[in-house]
Amino acid sequence: MQTLGVLGGMSWESTATYYKWLNEGVRDSLGGLHSAPILLHSVDFAAIAALQKAGEWDRAGEQLADAARGLQRAGAGALLLATNTMHKVAGAIESAVSIPLLHIGDAVGHALRQRGVSKAALLGTRFTMQGDFYTRRLAERFGIQTLLPNADDMTEIDRIIFAELCRGEFLRPARDFYLGVLETLRDQGADAAILGCTEIGLLLEGVDSPLPLVDSTQEHVAMGLGWLLSDI
Ligand code: GLU
Repeated sequence: MQTLGVLGGMSWESTATYYKWLNEGVRDSLGGLHSAPILLHSVDFAAIAALQKAGEWDRAGEQLADAARGLQRAGAGALLLATNTMHKVAGAIESAVSIPLLHIGDAVGHALRQRGVSKAALLGTRFTMQGDFYTRRLAERFGIQTLLPNADDMTEIDRIIFAELCRGEFLRPARDFYLGVLETLRDQGADAAILGCTEIGLLLEGVDSPLPLVDSTQEHVAMGLGWLLSDI
């Protein structure tokens, strides 16, 4: 197997899941003592979150591009950027390296298409829900229409991500709130929901959801595993 580079720490709560699932996937496919060859660059999320908040996306992009160069120099053959939001600067990362960035939006788009979904609710940070870097990719590459929560619900979804989920707090009121939003979006015509933030799956694990869920973390890990196991 070649080595997979992971740009993580955004937040480490979900990066830990990536690490675990990538290793479990390799073990399940190859058996024995096999595990995933991974190089992980895990950032201090406080610094990245401050740049997001200040709208300094170019600086955030430069920092992640530097980290990506380091992973390539250290021997990574492809990259996973373990956050939806920071795919806003995917272009800066892609132009800094000559190895492929396995895009989380493509992982989600393929999963939706495979399930025959054409209209999907999108939950994520306000940057992911309101910016067009994610929804446009889904529309242009996969023909998927996204349905967004109303403005108040978006604010609360975003608050919960940064104030709770990224700090390791997965609480009942937050779960109930997210499920209520999904119910509303189902009534508005969504066929499924994209968990377009890598921590939301941790909150909604095992719940009875009003909509089928497509978890970006799960689909992105599957894409990474596809790459790792492609030569075997
Ligand atoms: N992990 C989250 C995501 O998938 C949010 C943290 C971030 O802003 O990068 O978007």
